[in-house]
Amino acid sequence: MFNIVIFGPPGAGKGTQSKFIVENYNLLHLSTGDVLRTEVESGSQLGIEIAQLIDKGNFVPDEMIQRMVKAFILRNKDVGGFIFDGFPRTTEQAKWLGSTLAEIDEELTIFLLLDVEEEELKKRILKRGEYSGREDDKDPAIIENRIGVYHDKTKPVIDYYIAQNKFHEVSGVGSPETVFVNVAQELEKLKK
Ligand code: AMP
Repeated sequence: MFNIVIFGPPGAGKGTQSKFIVENYNLLHLSTGDVLRTEVESGSQLGIEIAQLIDKGNFVPDEMIQRMVKAFILRNKDVGGFIFDGFPRTTEQAKWLGSTLAEIDEELTIFLLLDVEEEELKKRILKRGEYSGREDDKDPAIIENRIGVYHDKTKPVIDYYIAQNKFHEVSGVGSPETVFVNVAQELEKLKK
């Protein structure tokens, strides 16, 4: 399997680049945010509880996310690989992912950071908020909170993968097509 973590702060373009990767490589995309939003849209009690967290930009408990990711992995063991988008978001989740992939004799192939500076992120998220329908894309204070949570809890994941020699980085600035040229270059290095 070729397993990718596409990583970066909110608004870095992880979802957009994942779509390009899916179109060009035979991999399955898992966006934990998308799965959570689908649960919210279902109107279930669980969805109501999830909305209370994600609408403010706070994390959903690890246990819930891990159950979701594990079910997805086990359901799709026969694919060419996974693109994890929005996961892992904490070092705990990263460690857990390693051991869960090991259970099916797999490992992460590449951790790819999309690098975008903070002012650009805020602009992009507010723009997305005009059509995404996401409560967490609309309010500047909530966007600030999401970026703050990224710095406090999620950024340390980078060090974890540097130590594992899996860390790669590309600039996430420019048109989606331009960024994908850089993304593909990094992926091709590991395909050989
Ligand atoms: P995203 O679509 O990746 O921006 O995720 C939207 C929201 O879903 C986040 O702000 C969190 O509230 C929640 N979420 C998504 N992935 C995770 C995760 N791996 N751990 C905890 N919460 C998550």
